[in-house]
Amino acid sequence: MKFLIKTLGCKVNWLDSARIATALESVGHQQVMNDDEAEMVFINSCTVTAEADRKSHQFANKTLNLQKDVIVTGCSTRVDGGSWSARSDDSIMVLQDELAIFNRFDIDPDEVPFPVTSRTRLPISIQTGCDNECSFCITRLARGKHQNIPEKQVIDQIKHAIDEGVREVVLTGINLAAWGSENSNNASSSHLHRLLEAILSKTTIERIRFSSLGPQYIQQPFFDLFADSRVCDYLHVSMQSGSNSVLDRMVRGHGTEEIAKIAEMARKVRPNTAVAADIIAGFPGETDSEHQETVDFIQQIGFSKLHVFPYSEREGTPAADHSDPIERKLRKERAKEIREIALNLRKTYIQEQMGRNFSILAEEGGHGLTSNYIRVRCDGAKQGEITTVTLNEETLAEKI
Ligand code: SF4
Repeated sequence: MKFLIKTLGCKVNWLDSARIATALESVGHQQVMNDDEAEMVFINSCTVTAEADRKSHQFANKTLNLQKDVIVTGCSTRVDGGSWSARSDDSIMVLQDELAIFNRFDIDPDEVPFPVTSRTRLPISIQTGCDNECSFCITRLARGKHQNIPEKQVIDQIKHAIDEGVREVVLTGINLAAWGSENSNNASSSHLHRLLEAILSKTTIERIRFSSLGPQYIQQPFFDLFADSRVCDYLHVSMQSGSNSVLDRMVRGHGTEEIAKIAEMARKVRPNTAVAADIIAGFPGETDSEHQETVDFIQQIGFSKLHVFPYSEREGTPAADHSDPIERKLRKERAKEIREIALNLRKTYIQEQMGRNFSILAEEGGHGLTSNYIRVRCDGAKQGEITTVTLNEETLAEKI
């Protein structure tokens, strides 16, 4: 069978798609890259916002219009299964997760090879699911309970990736900082540092990055290892708000103090560390003064990059039933204000880094990322090569 996979959503979904593709190929099916050639199209759906759900259905409609058989899987089918099963199309089959797909195609999950999707920067899944109860979050409903990927499996996958020529891995998960805990609600039982220690001592991978980290899980032992130059000096914190009262209503399990502590500890061992974060603007009940607290906190920390989203209701989450929603227009205005501040902070951060020499892992097209996540030109370097570049106006490859 010739199959095509269309993926929506986050890095974890892309990793799932890579595993599904590798699994299907391992039993003789052939992955193709366009609709025309495909006999079967898989849609790996997303539900993080209402818009993502809508797009997932739109992908399915477009594909069905091409007279192709469709298998839909992923987060939207797990959270909003009803809207998928209510569809009357005979050519669409809903298989909610990879195990259902493996059963359908007689694939033994233990025999599926590790997918190597990139030979430069490879995402590696170390954890999935989450036991926390953040009041806005639909992901925890879509992804189920927190589960660690065992250390041995992570190490084997990284060793395999190194053999395939990979030089940088990005450790990824739904709530990856909770790695090692039995229940991600218990922040003190997380042992991400132990996994990092094992990766540093048992593999020769040259660069290690982390996706978004929950601040309540990260303690000093992590920063003792963060001093190692193989660990990229870039930390993305899952923050959501700079107001403690909003964080309480979000049921985040941390306050601004933990975030400030992370920035401080990271910069103590690696003074040039870039600290990035996610922010939700206009969470239900957010007052002008709470919004201002976020603005002040962002400036106080001096984040190098912010991902800012206006709050979006997701049916089935407690926040969606809040009695005091913020007008959509105001959510957007607050998001815009924060983005403008973030842009200025980014400019300041990059100016401070000018003149430094960075080791760059070259990507296709003659550019690459510094370890602290600045995009630079490295003309002439081959993809996958590590080269040294001085950051200046000519080599900077992002608009500031
Ligand atoms: S930590 Fe909160 S936001 Fe993150 S996946 Fe868990 S419940 Fe969702």
